Amino acid sequence: MSEAVNVVDIFGANVFNDAVMAERLPKKVYKELRKTIDEGKELDPMIAEVVANAMKDWAIEKGATHYTHWFQPLTGVTAEKHDAFISAPKKDGSTIMEFSGKELIKGEPDASSFPSGGLRATFEARGYTAWDCTSPAFVRQDAAGATLCIPTAFCSYTGEALDQKTPLLRSMEAINTQSLRLLKLFGNISSKKVTPSVGPEQEYFLVDKNKYLQRKDLIYTGRTLFGAMPPKGQELEDHYFGAIRERIGSFMKDLNIELWKLGVAAKTQHNEVAPAQHEIAPIYSEANVAVDHNQLVMETLKKVAGRHGLACLLHEKPFAGVNGSGKHNNWSLTTDDGINLLEPGKTPHENIQFLLVLACILKAVDTHADLLRESAADVGNDHRLGANEAPPAIISIFVGEQLEDVLTQLVSTGEATHSLKGGTLYTGVKTLPDLAKDATDRNRTSPFAFTGNKFEFRMVGSSDSIAAPNMVLNTIVAEAFDEACNILEKAEDFDLAVHDLIKQYVTEHQRIVFNGNGYSDEWVAEAEKRGLPNIKSMIESIPALVSDKAIKLFETYGVFTKAELESRAEVLFEKYTKVINIEALTMADMTGKQIIPAVIKYTKALADTVNSVLTAGGEASVQVELLNEASALLSDTKVALSKLQTALCEAEKVEEGEALAAYYKDVVKAAMDELREPVDKLEMIVDKDLWPMPSYGDLIFEV
Ligand code: ADP
Ligand code: MG
Repeated sequence: MSEAVNVVDIFGANVFNDAVMAERLPKKVYKELRKTIDEGKELDPMIAEVVANAMKDWAIEKGATHYTHWFQPLTGVTAEKHDAFISAPKKDGSTIMEFSGKELIKGEPDASSFPSGGLRATFEARGYTAWDCTSPAFVRQDAAGATLCIPTAFCSYTGEALDQKTPLLRSMEAINTQSLRLLKLFGNISSKKVTPSVGPEQEYFLVDKNKYLQRKDLIYTGRTLFGAMPPKGQELEDHYFGAIRERIGSFMKDLNIELWKLGVAAKTQHNEVAPAQHEIAPIYSEANVAVDHNQLVMETLKKVAGRHGLACLLHEKPFAGVNGSGKHNNWSLTTDDGINLLEPGKTPHENIQFLLVLACILKAVDTHADLLRESAADVGNDHRLGANEAPPAIISIFVGEQLEDVLTQLVSTGEATHSLKGGTLYTGVKTLPDLAKDATDRNRTSPFAFTGNKFEFRMVGSSDSIAAPNMVLNTIVAEAFDEACNILEKAEDFDLAVHDLIKQYVTEHQRIVFNGNGYSDEWVAEAEKRGLPNIKSMIESIPALVSDKAIKLFETYGVFTKAELESRAEVLFEKYTKVINIEALTMADMTGKQIIPAVIKYTKALADTVNSVLTAGGEASVQVELLNEASALLSDTKVALSKLQTALCEAEKVEEGEALAAYYKDVVKAAMDELREPVDKLEMIVDKDLWPMPSYGDLIFEV
């Protein structure tokens, strides 16, 4: 048995949280800082000076020697540059630990090497990181020692956002403003702030580190580029929610401890559908904190896996043939006094405010389905969306039977008079309790599902930041609220106007509601009939960012300028091209240096056997057949490899940006698929001892 963990004691132990601030800051300073955090008041530099000093003392007590501005550039991962607290040595050769308000508030990493999509040329490399005091600073303790991490936003010299956080914070301001307007219409003047609450469920794979290190594809690309299916996959569904094995359990225990210390409320853990696949979910928090915490979860997963001799794969599709990994983004809107705007109550048909919020969300998602789809687009996610394991690439909303019934009543008669009740679930066993049943069943196939008092956006990829999906959600819903308020604020008869508006929105946007099986072919046909976009790939989704509709939306709410949107589109096309290029080069490398030599060894040994059998006057038809088969596949492999190499050379002739990305998707990827085919067949023939890398079976069943 391992030692007991006192969760209450360790939770948040390494976070400069509210309790620490209240204890360590002078009362007046604490109050001022809270005003900035809670009400968005500007930060006084004098206050920052005092906070910096207290933060430094606290961090040093935790063993910190360095601090870093921790930010989220457009690479999808976090970035940091460490500075020691030491000051310039004094005349007597001694030093002191120093950290000023200025250093807390502003950093200036040389920004020229981060993706900026043309927003900033290398000769004007200035980029600033600015303290985001709404997400608490923390001390990270690991092999590098202890480091004070200060969550920051990252902007260019001219103020353009170069990161994921800045637009997210801007979108949170937009949804706050518009939600407060909406609440006011319903007589709520006590709520001071509305914040999106976000709870992301994170899927991941764990494989043995030593085996991982024997696969160049996993090392360079995070996914397997070759691999024949083992005799068993996930068909028995015995891994899903299965008992957690000791090695994994011990990993999960350490993971939780690390996360709890960082103030991440890790709550749920279980085995997922695919062998070697698992999930972790924290308790939801404010959107920007949830985004930061999700980054910490991903970093910590990798770090702790290493300590257990494991490698954590966050790629959306590490293995063909079994499920990939996603991230369910649970989203709702919460007031500072604890009201959830997405809470329907027991009788949703009477809850007019909820129905208006719901109608606005239907409108927002229908109007901007393309943007929501884009926010979940990622190179790895192209393998999942629409592939019968993840939601389809078509955005629709699942509302469940109860709400669908209310919406139908509204549309057909103009009035909703009743709500379906959940009833009781009888188990048929006397000793088991009868259960109160929810009014609505679940639907796992919907990309955007109402789950009681929140929406669950299920399209996001496992390795992706959740900043963009939440930024889009906040902004499109802010727009819908804004437009509704513009009408309702002018209405003479509010009750009548709100009733009409709900009916109008629900009628106009009913097509986005779909409660059936999202994995079925019928749905694809039906969605087309309804005119819903079916955007099949990342490349096809990117142009949505720079449509007139998107530019107007994001500029209206101050989330992005046109230049920022254009730069993001450029960064994304470039990212796609680079990722596929690395994958293609890795395939070529593995084929040339490992696979072809192994097959040659195998065929040579086989040919030698054939020769000696025949020389001895024996019968060698089976050996000859195998030899012919392997030789033919070897030849196919060589041809496919040359074709891939030619495709890569030809890429130089294609114009950079969208055209090049499309070339990689249509030409290079196709050549990669062609190369994989004979290689996977060879893996089934060649002696296991000669095959140069661990198989799928070794990787996912022997962890
Ligand atoms: P499910 O049954 O869909 O897995 P859970 O209750 O396990 O739902 O929650 C999944 C995630 O959703 C968790 O991170 C949880 O904290 C979060 N969540 C729960 N309620 C809300 C809410 N009102 N708003 C946002 N996220 C929420
Ligand atoms: Mg869920």
